[in-house]
Amino acid sequence: MADLQYDVCIIGAGAAGAYLAKRLLHERPHFKVLIVDAGPSIPVGMDEVAFSCEQHGDTPYRAPQEGRFFGRGGTTSAWGASLVPYSRKDFDVEDALSTEWKSIVQDLDLSAVSTLKHLGFEGSDLLRQSFEVSEKIRRHPLNQINQIELQRNIYLPFTKKNFAWMLDELANVPGAQVMLDSVVTKLNLEDHTANSSKSVKSITIQTRSGDQNSITARVVLICQGAIETTRTLLEVAHQQGDDYFQWKGLVGNGLSDHISFPVANYDSDSTQKIAQVLAPSFVEGSITGTRMVPLSRDLPRSFAHVVFKQNGAAFTMAREMMYSIQSRKLPSIDVSTMGRSVIGLARFAKKRLLDGVLCIENGSTASLQYDFETPRSPLRRIELSEARDAYGKRKPSIHWSLSDIDLRSVLQRLGDVRRQFQHSLDVDCVDSLSGGEIALDNPYDVYHPCGTTPRGSRPSQGVLDEDLSVHQIANLWACSTAVLPSAGTANPTFSLLCLLEHRTIPSILRKLA
Ligand SMILES: Cc1cc2nc3c(=O)[nH]c(=O)nc-3n(C[C@H](O)[C@H](O)[C@H](O)COP(=O)(O)OP(=O)(O)OC[C@H]3O[C@@H](n4cnc5c(N)ncnc54)[C@H](O)[C@@H]3O)c2cc1C
Repeated sequence: MADLQYDVCIIGAGAAGAYLAKRLLHERPHFKVLIVDAGPSIPVGMDEVAFSCEQHGDTPYRAPQEGRFFGRGGTTSAWGASLVPYSRKDFDVEDALSTEWKSIVQDLDLSAVSTLKHLGFEGSDLLRQSFEVSEKIRRHPLNQINQIELQRNIYLPFTKKNFAWMLDELANVPGAQVMLDSVVTKLNLEDHTANSSKSVKSITIQTRSGDQNSITARVVLICQGAIETTRTLLEVAHQQGDDYFQWKGLVGNGLSDHISFPVANYDSDSTQKIAQVLAPSFVEGSITGTRMVPLSRDLPRSFAHVVFKQNGAAFTMAREMMYSIQSRKLPSIDVSTMGRSVIGLARFAKKRLLDGVLCIENGSTASLQYDFETPRSPLRRIELSEARDAYGKRKPSIHWSLSDIDLRSVLQRLGDVRRQFQHSLDVDCVDSLSGGEIALDNPYDVYHPCGTTPRGSRPSQGVLDEDLSVHQIANLWACSTAVLPSAGTANPTFSLLCLLEHRTIPSILRKLA
């Protein structure tokens, strides 16, 4: 067993791990940083890295099986790359989480622009306006709907969608090392001499070929995605074998995600009308979209957006080309699609260059999609199973049920928002899906697990402190969307990166000073 020593060991090369590696080495180029990931260079699904989990409950939950990827770039190899911060709508909702949401939103206000810059956005207009909707939308009746606030989201450019680019940038940094196909199987703790806490003494890593290594690092950052991060902290608490960790009873509770429903479908004529206002637009080369956040205090936190279903040869070809570049495989495009796409591509170019918007081809359709968060409930949680996986580790046992939520009544109330949306755009839907028509027993979760490693100022109140450092373990941080109190009104990843930028990076640098 080799013995290797680092300043920082980052477990997980996904969004959080890659961002932290890039930023820490930018701030301190002399650091020795190891990034360990369970998966290969091109990320794969859970089964291919021999990870597994148990699932319990009366409602399907897809996030653990389908919503995470293992390897260089992690789940960003498959994500939508939509960036948007949480906002005051998250603490306007009157529930037990609003205080924590307020503190998070204050941090995001201070760090969103600098985080965008570190993600490679440079244009001054884009950074100044960042998440405000365009002047055109501000003047449209859509912006007068009193139950909705409009917000802009920004998409990462295609070449930066998979966060592996951040690791590529580190290729020539002498202190950076990436170790793939290597599963962290155990954090070994020792008593920390300076105070009464523990610290991570070493990390056990098992390679694909079965070899074991022991790593030591001055600080350890768990960046394994929400589910595996929660699992690792459950393992740490269990390993200790007593009630030493005051947060033991908190970790794993409060699993929250977005539930997603189409609530209206639009024909191709209505779709063209909607596209005149809401087609994704280009700002200084970056593509942006518009999202709607219902303001009602008695609704769960939610957001809505229009999904355009492009139905033309040009878009099919462009998408295939992009997927093939991203996955480094040959595109599967037939000659007739190529021929038909020439005129369409010219139309795309014209729209892009003259109007600054994405062309929604004739014949395309659209739907209005609602995503709302599941509230905290004992019905949704992560525990450790007694069963073991291929690495001899206890499997995560994921409990997910929606039986405490009256989905039909949520959708009926959201129906008012839909009617106002249609009125302001002067369109009708071909079907309005507000209850019976949609599969209430099989709602779609959106792969945004949150809530299971809460923050709190004391170890009895939260697993992590405000900087995402694990209470009672002096050199351990846990950086995943599990730190967010619930799924909230936005896709979670950008907000996580802002918290890392504003809270975690300064606290790690202080620790290593
Ligand atoms: C289809 C899809 C679309 C999405 N779209 C969006 C979107 O538009 N906007 C948004 O904000 N969010 C989106 N998300 C969610 C987003 O992808 C995640 O929030 C984000 O990728 C999480 O980043 P992470 O670094 O925490 O975890 P991950 O990216 O999952 O990375 C975790 C890494 O840790 C590694 N790992 C785990 N356990 C171990 C171990 N024991 N040892 C070593 N390595 C380990 C894994 O191999 C993995 O590479 C989407 C998700 C999906 C699936």
